[in-house]
Amino acid sequence: MVVLGKQGSGKGTQCVKLSQRFAIPHISTGDMLRAEVKAKTALGLQAQLAMEKGELISDSLIIKMVEKRIELDDARTRGFILDGFPRTLSQAKSLDEMLSPQEIDMVINLEVPTSVVLKRIASRRVCVDCQAVYSLAKPPRFNWTCDLCGGEVLQREDDTEEAILRRLVLYEEETAPLIEYYQERNKLHRVSGLGSEEAVALRLDKLIRSYLKRREAKQTRD
Ligand code: AMP
Repeated sequence: MVVLGKQGSGKGTQCVKLSQRFAIPHISTGDMLRAEVKAKTALGLQAQLAMEKGELISDSLIIKMVEKRIELDDARTRGFILDGFPRTLSQAKSLDEMLSPQEIDMVINLEVPTSVVLKRIASRRVCVDCQAVYSLAKPPRFNWTCDLCGGEVLQREDDTEEAILRRLVLYEEETAPLIEYYQERNKLHRVSGLGSEEAVALRLDKLIRSYLKRREAKQTRD
């Protein structure tokens, strides 16, 4: 499954929930890159500057990273939820090639207006160790330490006003065309990302369960 949505649409939070509910690995290219930066690997050093500015990492680097990740056992056996990838048409086409003769099952576009995502990103705080997402309205229980791992909870380095605006422009230029790409291939499902975390999670749950039911019925017929 691929989950599309602007930065701040809540897709990271919802992907974590989906991953737990359906026991499918959550592959977030942003989280993977932040881990590389933290570990100061060659890839991390290459990616850091572009990430801080809100620019995209080159297609070839990111495609190699995803290709390696989806070949691991958990993804091969359980499938995966891709969050933050593909972000360009060239990445989407490479993903199709990587998976061939299999295909992505479904693509969800989590829809939230820009005015709402700007407010959400300004309030977003993230655990530096496990990347769990909090907000000023929903902080961790104790003193900005992560409820899950005890890590420090901070504002993301690329959540500056300048980088956020750049990421939103790039979203419109590079990522929005993917909506048409997947619509033409009958993969696209639009879901409103407005409302509480729980309300959005329920919408997604309903959609996926009905998709799985239809797929099961089709497999039985075939
Ligand atoms: P995210 O956590 O998804 O907002 O990603 C954080 C940053 O990582 C982005 O602003 C990009 O610099 C980089 N990044 C993540 N995924 C991709 C991708 N698929 N293609 C290019 N750059 C990416």
